Amino acid sequence: AKVEKDISREKSGQLFEEAKGYFPGGVNSPVRAFKSVYGTPLFIERGDKAHLWDADGNEFIDYCCSWGPLILGHNNDAVREAVAEQLHKGLSFGAPTALENKLASLIINNNQYLEKIRFVSSGTEAVMSAIRLARGYTKRDKIVKFEGCYHGHSDALLVKAGSGLVTFGETSSAGVPKAFAEETIVIALNDYEALKQVFADFKDQIATVIIEGVPANNGLLMQDREYVQFLREITQENGALLIFDEVITGFRLGFEGAARYYDVKPDIITYGKIIGGGMPVGAYGASNELMSHISPDGGVYQAGTLSGNPVAMSAGIAALSILAQDGFYENLEAVTQKFVQEIQAYIAQKEYRVKVFTIGSIFWFAFTDQDKIQRADEIVHESMEQYKVMHRELLNRGIYFGPSGYEVGFISAAHTEEDLSKTIIALQESLDVVFAS
Ligand code: PMP
Repeated sequence: AKVEKDISREKSGQLFEEAKGYFPGGVNSPVRAFKSVYGTPLFIERGDKAHLWDADGNEFIDYCCSWGPLILGHNNDAVREAVAEQLHKGLSFGAPTALENKLASLIINNNQYLEKIRFVSSGTEAVMSAIRLARGYTKRDKIVKFEGCYHGHSDALLVKAGSGLVTFGETSSAGVPKAFAEETIVIALNDYEALKQVFADFKDQIATVIIEGVPANNGLLMQDREYVQFLREITQENGALLIFDEVITGFRLGFEGAARYYDVKPDIITYGKIIGGGMPVGAYGASNELMSHISPDGGVYQAGTLSGNPVAMSAGIAALSILAQDGFYENLEAVTQKFVQEIQAYIAQKEYRVKVFTIGSIFWFAFTDQDKIQRADEIVHESMEQYKVMHRELLNRGIYFGPSGYEVGFISAAHTEEDLSKTIIALQESLDVVFAS
């Protein structure tokens, strides 16, 4: 049954009121404002393993995991110690360090799809730079992205699709010049004809097609391998590059991410989140030949004062060293499978109209009876009301999910069997409330 009283959000509420005086909407990234769920955002004080504590002292089992980076959970011993050690040596030099070599070697030596990388400080920067490289290399301006894929907030990528087979030119943010948006063509996922038409209509004008490794920013839109292969073929035939944005899937589906999962080699890969072990790091990588076009070797300019930051590199090295150990991903995926299957069994038994989609250690609750959702427009917006109820019930039972039904959940290596069993019970009770009316 419904929990009678909501958790206390007194201190969080006060902090949020204060924050509204400092930041637009009281936050430094929009989704944190809890606009699509109940109540005021929770102000977090501390995290340890899979657990979070907010300003009111409420404790939660965390499935947001900072939106993906914390595959080892909060306050991981090795990551914390590596950062602590570096703190004594300096925070930033703006000069090369051995740490950058070490993190790069960890990545490149464990990834058959990359020969060279460049570190940046966020996913947005990684993708923005990858697009510039693709344009600089092909000497073409237009790019193709998919409706429902998020690639950060750079101008070229804040463009949405309208209706119809192929749309372009409509920005999804004020402040993006129309002329920029017109260079971005947006089509639906899993639509072979739309992409063929784009390449016919804009012959020799398309620099790149960009797709999220597995689209996971607007629900979890799992693509068929044949479709991803088709992207590889059609780009190659037309002299365009294929970019996998692996900001979420990189080091989440394994060291070689979605590229390995599909067994498709993209031309450029972008990373963020996990690569920095919880610190601000992004990267983009490609072949030696492609990367030779980046400054100072080539004519595509890209730079950063804090790029390759030593503290952030230390965190990344510590994290990736653990992920590189034998069996890490197999274990995490097995744990996730078991968790998801238990919930699915309950849903099936109760005949609730909700699906749990999953890949690797990512999961997504969709209030639908569709067995497959592969395109953004297949998600029913009204179903988010049910997510909203579930989210509140879960918080009241000490479970922290992302504050939007379009967001996926993550399981970390720090989630214990006890955490997961508690969560399953909380989920069962919460779904009972959602479907009680
Ligand atoms: N690409 C993808 C696939 C992402 O999921 C995100 C962030 N959720 C970004 C790019 C942007 O990364 P950041 O928020 O670090 O700028």
